[in-house]
Order: sequence, then structure tokens, then C-alpha cells
Amino acid sequence: AYLEQFVSETTTESEPKLEEEEEDENKILLCKQIELQGSIDFHCGACKDFGGLNQSKPLAVIKPVGTEDLVRVIRSVISSSASSSASSSSNLTTVAARGNGHSINGQAMTDENGLVILMREINGQIDIIRRNHSCSNGDVFVDVGGGVLWEDVLLHCYYTSGLAPRSWTDYLGLTVGGTLSNAGISGQAFRYGPQTSNVTELEVVTGKGEIVTCSENQNSELFHGVLGGLGQFGIITRARIPLEPAPHMVRWIRMVYSEFDEFTNDAELLVNRAECDSFDYIEGFVFVNSDDPVNGWSTVPLGSNQLFDRSRIPKSAGPVLYCLEVALHYRNGDDLDTVDKVVSKMIGRLRFIRNLKFESDLSYVEFLLRVKEQEEEAKANGIWDNPHPWLNLLVAKKDIADFDGLVFKKILKDGIGGPMLIYPLLKSKWDTRTSVVLPEGEIFYLVALLRFQLPMVGPSVQDLIIQNQEILQCCTKRGFDFKLYLPHYRSDDQWKSHFGKQWSRFVERKTKFDPMAILAPGQKIFSRNN
Ligand code: FAD
Repeated sequence: AYLEQFVSETTTESEPKLEEEEEDENKILLCKQIELQGSIDFHCGACKDFGGLNQSKPLAVIKPVGTEDLVRVIRSVISSSASSSASSSSNLTTVAARGNGHSINGQAMTDENGLVILMREINGQIDIIRRNHSCSNGDVFVDVGGGVLWEDVLLHCYYTSGLAPRSWTDYLGLTVGGTLSNAGISGQAFRYGPQTSNVTELEVVTGKGEIVTCSENQNSELFHGVLGGLGQFGIITRARIPLEPAPHMVRWIRMVYSEFDEFTNDAELLVNRAECDSFDYIEGFVFVNSDDPVNGWSTVPLGSNQLFDRSRIPKSAGPVLYCLEVALHYRNGDDLDTVDKVVSKMIGRLRFIRNLKFESDLSYVEFLLRVKEQEEEAKANGIWDNPHPWLNLLVAKKDIADFDGLVFKKILKDGIGGPMLIYPLLKSKWDTRTSVVLPEGEIFYLVALLRFQLPMVGPSVQDLIIQNQEILQCCTKRGFDFKLYLPHYRSDDQWKSHFGKQWSRFVERKTKFDPMAILAPGQKIFSRNN
């Protein structure tokens, strides 16, 4: 009878298990192996990102409950290779922190034995800190979790204290840790630098599984390495960001140019002016000189009541036109006549086409959340979830006119089905000790080709990728001084050339803070070491 029972039990056990049961068992095993407080998921959208060009299914997706969970995950991956022969434990290889998954080229993905950590699941800390109970500039900060969205930082700071960070991205559905791992650029960066220049302290979990607080004066190599470090040296779990009194209102202005040199001269004039004589936000974009509803004239006005008077475009204009986009902050109660006068004085000598100027007044919060409305529209018509083969470049001033002639006026003369941003930035506002790499010279241009493709309409994704390659080849062939922003390369040589003389520093930092190359494998810079 004893034997019978044994036989019947083993027979039942060797029958194929239901997939769900097996998965539950695997979850329990993995949770035990990691000693996780949070939870594990085997089915999650983490195998896709905003770019929609890559797919990679991780072994599992981790929803951590706190920083200690990140330490446990990293330490279990470190010890995993040593114990991988033990049949009960999974052979864990790598760890990718996933912010909001808004990368284009799989940067927040792992291989099939890797773990993806959903940073948005971790506590959404947003604490305002007043040093010496003071309210004066330079004394108020916000401590914010690495997985918090910038839009939540804005809303919390603005509505609880009337304060706000100074440097933003155009779109705020991005995480603090995600943008600080790149740079974080928008129309305020000409004055304050990118977001990586606007953080005073970080808490980081390194690739060795250590929690480290770092700043300019404490563990400074880690601090500078992590900023713009493409997630290679540690996972940002907290950032301390200076706050300033926020304006209430914004005068948003667009001015059209037919000549590239006039557009860039004016943009450079404005970014170089003293703070009291210039705008608070400066960007620009290229659009097609036609009635194309997605790429042409109608994309410029700032409201449905504003008309683009095409008769004002000079006959000599080429296939594309340029728009300088600026904004001036003001406060409730400021006299609007005074705002008009200040704006008139600042734009008086600019060489835009008179009568092709558009203006709108809106609240500061509405202005910073301006892309959210477009996001909702794009989600409704399916464009948001379609692939986005975007290309972002930083191009030296010396090459920007040739870039315009070859790329905007020729390759992209019919548009890209989305915004083509171009605006100048000042290198002196960037901290060269961070991991970000820039072209030579004080002035360089951000060029962002933000392709939005309608499902089943227009060129194929493959064709758009080929067009991106054509642009890059053209820049390389002409010897332009440029860097990819949000870079993605597949070979060592390409990464070495991207970092140039900063490559050895980058490698040294990797050896020091993530010696087994566990972190952010989706960037494809280093391979896992045992
Ligand atoms: P993810 O894509 O999830 O991650 C990006 C990389 O950072 C990955 O390697 C990941 O492993 C790593 N990472 C994520 N979180 C952490 C963390 N806490 N610590 C360490 N590493 C981490 N960029 C601009 O500069 N300006 C803009 O105006 C701008 N607008 C955008 C608009 C849209 C619609 C989109 C899709 C992107 C935009 N970006 C912009 C790019 C954006 O900065 C990057 O996509 C960035 O990676 C942030 O996205 P994320 O938070 O989703 O990070």
C-alpha cells in the first residue's frame, strides 16, 4: 500500500503541469532566490518600448517596494552565476531599470535571463525640503524618487508650494531617473543647462548592490558618472532638485522665417542675451512650405482662431521654412500692456516675416503640459502606439548650415510626419564632468526628428529607418561634428567613437561601479562579465 501511494503520487507529479501552476512555482522560487519584498510578473509590456522597433522578453519583471528590493535584485544577480549550477536557482544575468519605457531603441530592455525593474512601482517620493526654513532661491529643493514622472513633480511642487524646477523636457511623461540618465533637454536648457545640470544630490544603487548617496562633494565620481550615464553605473533611486518660485503665466510666441541664416542668427542672439533681456524658453522647428496638414503651414499657429497667411511667404523661399518658438514668463497681476511692451522690445530687431507671428497666453502648468494634449489625441488615433523611429542629434554650430542644406532642404524636404525640432544650446551650461558627450564649440544645436507614423499610411518603418541611416551617413561623409542624443549603437567601435576621448573615463567608471556589467544591458555598450 505504501508503494502504491508512492507510485500514484509520482505519476500525478510527472503529468504536465498547468502553465499557470508552473508559473506560480517559478515566481515563488525566484522571489525566494531574490528574497524580494515586492512582486514578480512574467507577463508584462516591458518587452516593448515607445520606439516599438525592438522586442525582448526578460526572464521576469520586478515590482519593487523600496530601494532595498533593488539591492536584493542586484546582489542575487551578482551571486547567480556562482550558484547557477544549483538546479533550484535561475541563472540571472542582467538588470534593467525601466522608467516609463519611452526609449526608442530597447535601451530599457534585457536579455532573456535578465530582470526588468519597474521603477514607477517603487515609492513615489516627492518631498520639498527647505534648508534653514528659508524660502530664498537656492535654499529649496525637492527630493524625488527615480521612478517618478516629471509631470507629477510639476503638479506637486506647483500646487503645494508655488515652486518648480527650472529645467524641463518638452514632454513630462518621462521619469526623473530616465531623463537624468540621458540629459533632459528643452527650451530652458540654454539658460539653466539640461536637467543633469540641475540636480545637487543623488541616491544610487550601484552595480555592486550598494546604496550610495552622492553629490558634487561626496562620491563625486559616481554622481557625475550617473548623470548622462545611460544607466551604466547605478540605478537612481532619489534625486535632489533645486526649486524656484514658479511663474503663473506664459506668453508663448512663434515667428516664421524663410532664411535659415536669419533664423539661426536670431536664435543665437536670443540665447546669448542677458537673462533680463531675453525669453525664458527658446526652441525652434522646421516645417514644410506647403499646405500639407501634418508637416506644413497649419502646424504653426497657436490656436484654431489663428490663420497662417501664406501670401506673406517670400517668393524666394525654399521647400522648408523655420519657426522660432519662444516664451516669456509672467505673474498673475502683471500688467498685460507691460508684457506686450517687453515682448515688442525683445523681438523688435528680429528678422522673422512680419505678420507671420503667432501668440497665445496660457498658464505655466498648461504650457509645461502642452504635449499631453497631443499625446491624448495620438493615443485616440493610434499614432502613439505605432513604431517611432526617432533620431536625435547634437550638431556643432559650424556644421548646422550645411546640415540644413543637405538634410532639411533635401532629404527631409517633404517632412517626417511629426515635429523637426532645431534650437541652439550653450556648452558652458553643461557640466563636462558628467557622462554626456557633446560636439566641440560653445554653441551646438539639438536636432530632433520626431516621426509619428499613421498606422498603414505613408512610408514603412523600414524606409524611415533607412532614411535615418542616410542622414547619419551624410553627416559622417561630410565630416560634420555631431553626437547622437539618446545614442544607440551596436558595436564597440561605434561606442568608442561616440565617447571619443571620454571613452576611457567611461570604461573606468564602469569597472568601478558595475564591474560585472549587470546594469542597463539594453544600451549594448558592455557585455556581462562573470
Ligand atoms: P526609459 O526609457 O525607461 O529608460 C531609459 C534608460 O535609462 C534605460 O537604459 C534605463 O535602463 C535607464 N533608466 C531608467 N530609469 C533609471 C533610473 N532610475 N536610474 C538609472 N537608469 C535608469 N528627452 C529630452 O531630453 N527632452 C525631451 O523633450 C524629450 N521628449 C520626449 C518625448 C517623448 C514622447 C518621448 C517618447 C521621449 C522624449 N525624450 C525627451 C526622451 C527621454 O528623455 C528618454 O526616452 C528617456 O530615456 C526617458 O524615458 P523613460 O523615463 O521612459 O526612461
